[in-house]
Amino acid sequence: MATRDTIECPICHAVPARDRNLEDHLVMVHTKLRLAKFVVAETETLTEADISE
Ligand SMILES: [Zn+2]
Repeated sequence: MATRDTIECPICHAVPARDRNLEDHLVMVHTKLRLAKFVVAETETLTEADISE
């Protein structure tokens, strides 16, 4: 569904405006805590997937 040039925020699935990149969105919209929790959850998911394979 997602086209190649559409980058959506992995946390809230908002699509940043064309003149604003995802990094700006993450910094301005999400708190450090939210970002940290997301990264931790992603890492745990990847780790679990690794173990089960
Ligand atoms: Zn977002």
